[in-house]
Amino acid sequence: MKLGVMGGTFDPVHYGHLVVAEGVRYEYRLDKVVFVPAGRPPHKLNYPISDPEHRLALTRLAVASNSFFEVSDLEIKRPGPSYTYDTIREMHRIYHPEEIYFITGADAVLEILSWHRVEELLKICRFIAATRPGHNLDNLTGKLRALPAQLIDHIVPVEVPALAISSSDIRRRVREGRPIKYLLPESEEAYIADAGLYK
Ligand code: ATP
Ligand code: MG
Repeated sequence: MKLGVMGGTFDPVHYGHLVVAEGVRYEYRLDKVVFVPAGRPPHKLNYPISDPEHRLALTRLAVASNSFFEVSDLEIKRPGPSYTYDTIREMHRIYHPEEIYFITGADAVLEILSWHRVEELLKICRFIAATRPGHNLDNLTGKLRALPAQLIDHIVPVEVPALAISSSDIRRRVREGRPIKYLLPESEEAYIADAGLYK
């Protein structure tokens, strides 16, 4: 089986994430895509993030209508900062897939050189780098040349319909009382309103 792993803070998960996951699932014939909301992202330590319970609930609502999608609370349950390397190792242990495709945004791949145990990480999974507006593929390819050749082979750029949606924009919109409709599933919109998130 081929497993996709979609990592993110998901505060909240939105149609940008969902369209990327679905596009990659289809393109690479993945049997399953597991969304893994980050516990405490090592690179986001200095600004406030919603409680893990809320991010987990939002992610579960968002994937409910896609039978190929699942949510894992693995990073949220683990104490301390979560490293992608540990998560992928754990995914190998749980699902025994032939291959893992770690799906991420091209912007995140550009940070790759600073990641914890990046060389080992690239040996146990493939990276699928999705473009998003403002981070084009040429830009990415240029930066990737800095990596050792055998690692570059494990990073595959894909193009998906570009959606200029971000969680930070959604949070800002809620704070300012502007609409978030059509940026994320309605079930999430209702949850955000009920829980009074991002005010
Ligand atoms: P924030 O604005 O708080 O940084 P975000 O929208 O970037 O949130 P994350 O949870 O940080 O969401 O994203 C998880 C992954 O999804 C990242 O690798 C990011 O690059 C990617 N991603 C987020 N939004 C999009 C989008 N609209 N198109 C493609 N990839 C995206
Ligand atoms: Mg981001």
